Amino acid sequence: MPAGEDRFERARKAMVEHQLRSRGIRDERVLTAMLTVPREQFVPVCQQAYAYDDRALPIGHGQTISQPYMVAFMLQWLAAEPSHRVLEVGAGSGYQAALLGQLAQDVYAVEIVPALAEAAAAVIARLGYANVHIIAADGSVGYPPAAPYDRIIVAAAAPELPGPLMDQLAEGGRLVAPVGGRGFQECVAATKQNGEIVTERGIGCTFVPLRGRHGWQDNDWQGGVRW
Ligand code: SAH
Repeated sequence: MPAGEDRFERARKAMVEHQLRSRGIRDERVLTAMLTVPREQFVPVCQQAYAYDDRALPIGHGQTISQPYMVAFMLQWLAAEPSHRVLEVGAGSGYQAALLGQLAQDVYAVEIVPALAEAAAAVIARLGYANVHIIAADGSVGYPPAAPYDRIIVAAAAPELPGPLMDQLAEGGRLVAPVGGRGFQECVAATKQNGEIVTERGIGCTFVPLRGRHGWQDNDWQGGVRW
């Protein structure tokens, strides 16, 4: 192994080759970001040995850090550019926010569980991502102070595309979100063209529920799907 390379770096490289490239992730900027951001720093210490496994992992408070492939798929679809201002709804561990910090100019990542927001902000600060801002709030209403956004990514399943997020999308902007309920969700991309929203459906996925004003309420999540 090259001098100075630790077991996490080796696992990170293997993850990029075997979980991402081999499954068709081609965006070199996304692949480079995923080769760089130390995912093991964003999971609880007891989960670090599994940080590069091909699955989601628990991060406490009933929440998860998404499977690396799902993160890469959504980031590739989002197509964030270096000049972009990005909103992430559902910062969780802060891992995807750090990746976005490498892909875009400014990142506003909103997390509804205050303890997760605090932990995410601490890791982001320790790693020195000065362009990533973690905000403890209900992101289902977006984050008006920094709107409009060139890109919006939602990391929790929404009953439908939240209206305030569509309003806070810049002209020509793009949003990627999982839409659906327990047991049935699809990744959806929405682009704002001349004020109109054009949607595309992507792969099936499994995310925790979006909560808050435009999210699932407890009882609804147990039951059916509105999409
Ligand atoms: N992107 C995260 C994974 C997120 S899991 C990562 O890289 O680790 C989804 C997160 O969305 C959870 O932490 C959950 O608390 C949060 N969430 C759910 N509803 C929310 C809302 N209305 N506003 C902001 N965050 C929300």
